[in-house]
Amino acid sequence: MRKILVSECLYGGRPVRYDGGEKAETDQVFLKWKEEGRLVPVCPEVFGGLPIPRPEAQRIGDRVMNIEGKDVTEAYQRGAAEALRLAKEHDAAFCILKQGSPACGSRMIHDGTFSGRKIPGQGVAAELLRGAGFTVFGEDQMDEAAACLAQLEQAEQPLK
Ligand code: SF4
Repeated sequence: MRKILVSECLYGGRPVRYDGGEKAETDQVFLKWKEEGRLVPVCPEVFGGLPIPRPEAQRIGDRVMNIEGKDVTEAYQRGAAEALRLAKEHDAAFCILKQGSPACGSRMIHDGTFSGRKIPGQGVAAELLRGAGFTVFGEDQMDEAAACLAQLEQAEQPLK
C-alpha cells in the first residue's frame, strides 16, 4: 500500500499550527486514506524546532521572517529536510500539504507583508520535496491526488 506524506495540521489530532490550532481535513477520500493507515503526518515547522504556538512567519524571497522580524529560515530548512527524509523513508506516492503556509504551501503563499494577501509561490518544504522529485498537491486538489494514486496503483499491479 503506497503511503502519502501529509501536513500534520490536515491530519489532525495534534494542534501544531502557529496559532495552536489545526485544520483537520474532512474530505471523505482523505479520511479513508487516514483510516487505511496510508498517511504519514509531518509538520516541518515543528520538526525544525519551532514551538507551538509561535509567531506567524512568511516567506520573503529565499528567507522566512516571523512577524517579530526574526529570521527563522534555518528552522524551516531543517524541518523541510526532515519532511523529505520521511517522504523517502516511506517511499511516499506524493504529498498533500496545507496551502498558504511558508513551509507547506504548494501553489499560494502569503506575500511577506503580514497583511493577509497571498501570491503564487511555494513553501520551503514543498519546494524541497518537489526538487527531490515528489509531486506536491494542496488540500484543495484532493480529486487530482485521488486520480494520481489510482493511476500509480494501476501501474504497479502485477501482470496477470
Ligand atoms: Fe501545518 Fe505545515 Fe504549518 Fe505544520 S508547517 S502547521 S504541517 S502548514
